[in-house]
Amino acid sequence: MKIILIFFVAHWYLSLFFQTFFLHRYAAHRAFTMSKFTEKVFFVLTWIFQGSNYLSPYGYGVMHRMHHAFADTEDDPHSPKYDESIWKMMWKTKTIYSAITNKEMKVEQRFIKGVPEWPAFDGFARSWVSRVFWGAAYVAVYLQFATTWWLWLLLPVHFLMSPIHGAIINWFAHKYGYRNYEVTDTSKNFLPFDFLMMGESYHNNHHKHGSRANFGGVRWHEIDPTYIAIVVLDKIKVIQIRGKKVKEMASVKQAA
Ligand SMILES: [Zn+2]
Ligand SMILES: [Zn+2]
Repeated sequence: MKIILIFFVAHWYLSLFFQTFFLHRYAAHRAFTMSKFTEKVFFVLTWIFQGSNYLSPYGYGVMHRMHHAFADTEDDPHSPKYDESIWKMMWKTKTIYSAITNKEMKVEQRFIKGVPEWPAFDGFARSWVSRVFWGAAYVAVYLQFATTWWLWLLLPVHFLMSPIHGAIINWFAHKYGYRNYEVTDTSKNFLPFDFLMMGESYHNNHHKHGSRANFGGVRWHEIDPTYIAIVVLDKIKVIQIRGKKVKEMASVKQAA
């Protein structure tokens, strides 16, 4: 039982880390920079940890920029204001994401500019071969280590990990929580202390300051675990946080 729970928790946070770090803060928002080689390494790591539900950084990045530009309007790819249920919203999100990734949808140039792309790798990582390989690997882990029947209830979550992570924020953080900033959209800080979503919960802060690497830090309890990782990766020179000086000055001012 212990092994399955560890496997579940590890998959949850690792898959989420690559979503928020690589797809969200890097591909969509360019909150930091990295070399082309490092970028390729993160493509591969995202594939490993998101596994059967690998999301294309290109598709995610472009769609997410549209979300910020059109937040809670009819053109928003996902908004609880326009979709009656979380399931309908997830389905619509999936449809738009696929159309963007497969280049079947025309999108404005501003949403594409600077979004990392590696079509050959994306093609492989999104293929059925890859999805079935990872899916079979998850089943194999459960076959080996699931000692009680109810543990099997967790298995479907592994197959839908990335869409679940997306939906938690896109639905709940646009419906419930508190606001630090009055913005024109419905974004809220969903959890005051984000132990579940690696900083993504501070969604109202994020809608206010889209390109900031740190989603937390506005109130004392808003600790953003992904930002801590970003600072470490910046210190060891794997990535470079953008506009660091300006942001440091701003946060000093805010604290004062
Ligand atoms: Zn949002
Ligand atoms: Zn964003």
